[in-house]
Amino acid sequence: MVNNTTVSEISPIMATYSRFPVTLVKGKGSYVWDDQGKQYLDFTSGIATCNLGHVPDVVKEKLEEQLQNLWHCTNLYHIPNQEKLAGLLTANSCGDQVFFCNSGAEANEAAIKLARRYANKVKGKASSEVVTFQQSFHGRTLATLTATAQEKIQNGFFPLMPGFSYLPYNDFESLEVLNTKKPAAVLLELVQGEGGVIPANQEWVQKLAQICKENDILLMVDEIQTGMGRTGTLFAYQQFGIEPDVISLAKGLGSGFPIGAIIAKEEAAKGFEPGSHGSTFGGNPLATAAGSATVTHLVESGVLENAKEMAAYLDLQLKSLKDKFPIIKDIRGKGLLKGMVVEMNAIEVVQKAIANHLLILTAGPNVIRILPPLTVTKEEINELIDKLEQTFQSMEKGE
Ligand SMILES: *Cc1c(COP(=O)(O)O)cnc(C)c1O
Repeated sequence: MVNNTTVSEISPIMATYSRFPVTLVKGKGSYVWDDQGKQYLDFTSGIATCNLGHVPDVVKEKLEEQLQNLWHCTNLYHIPNQEKLAGLLTANSCGDQVFFCNSGAEANEAAIKLARRYANKVKGKASSEVVTFQQSFHGRTLATLTATAQEKIQNGFFPLMPGFSYLPYNDFESLEVLNTKKPAAVLLELVQGEGGVIPANQEWVQKLAQICKENDILLMVDEIQTGMGRTGTLFAYQQFGIEPDVISLAKGLGSGFPIGAIIAKEEAAKGFEPGSHGSTFGGNPLATAAGSATVTHLVESGVLENAKEMAAYLDLQLKSLKDKFPIIKDIRGKGLLKGMVVEMNAIEVVQKAIANHLLILTAGPNVIRILPPLTVTKEEINELIDKLEQTFQSMEKGE
C-alpha cells in the first residue's frame, strides 16, 4: 500500500460540536448501548426525534419493505408514500397541503419562502418581513439563523438575511406593533425548546393569532420540536385554541430517518406554484415510508394517550425531586418536553448523569432538558428519578 499521507492529529470531523465521551452503537425503545456494551437510559430521544423510541418495529418494517423496492426517485414523478404521508398530516391537522424537505431548517426555509412569495405574488403586499421572537430557535441556515433571535447562534455570520425583526416572547404589549408593521408572517415556537423549554402563554398566543387574522399576517408555528406527539397531542397548537396557517415539522416525523415538511392551509399554499420551490431528496420513497409509518402509529395506537399519562407522572416525580434538592429551581414545559431549571451549570449535571448511565440534554446554560420517548413507561421514569437523585447527591457531596 502506498502511504503518501502524513499522520495527523486533526480529527477528520469538523469541530462544530463538543461531544460527550460516549460512542453509541445500538438502541431499542428507551435504551441505547455504547461500543463497550454499556447500557444507558436515553431521555434525549435524539433531541425529540426518536419519539417512538429507538428502532420501532412498526417503522422498521415499512422501511425494510421500501428498501426492497425503490429508494429514490425525483419529485418529477408521483411518489405514493409521499401522498400517503401528506394525506395523514392534512387529515390530522388544520392544514391542507404539504411540502416535503429533509430537515428542520429546510422546513423553516420553506415556510419563510412561502410567506415571502405569498406576500409578494398573491397579496401584492408591501411587506415581506417575517417577525420572530427572542430566545427562539429556528435552525442554522442563513435565513433560519437570522430568524433565530439568539446572539450566540448569529455571531460571526454577518451580514444576516434582511427582512426579519424580533419581538419579546410572551409579551402582550409589544404585539401591538404588528398592527402597524403588518409583516408577511410571524414564526414562533409554542414551547421554546433550545431557548430553555419556555412554554408560550396561551392567552398571548391567542392574542397574537387574532392580530394576525385581522391584519392578514400568516401565523406560522415551528413544531419541529413540539410536534409529532411530543407535548401530548399530535401538534402543540391543538392545545392553544389556534389554527396556524403554516406548520413546520422535522425531528419526530421520521423516527430518526431524516425528513422535514411544512403543512399549509389552502390559502397560504397559493404562495407556491410549479417551479417556485423544490428539493432533490425531499419526501423521497424511503423518508416518506418512515414518515407515514410514524404518523400512522401516532394516530392509530395509544401512544399519544401514553405520552399524556406519562407526562403527568413525570411532572409529579420531577416536582418531588425538586422538593428534595434546593439546587432545582423550577420544573416547566409541556407534555414530554420537560425543563428543569437548576442553580448551576446544567452541562455539569448532564456530564455527571452519563456516569450514572443516563442521557439527558441541556437547553441553555441552566436548564436540563428531559425528552423521553412517547412510549416511556412508569418504571423507566422511576429509573430516571433514581439516576437523577444519585447524580444530584454526588454533586452535593462535591464528587
Ligand atoms: C431542531 C430545531 C430546528 C432545526 O432543525 P434541523 O433539523 O436541525 O435543521 C428548528 N426549529 C426547532 C424548534 C428545532 O427544535
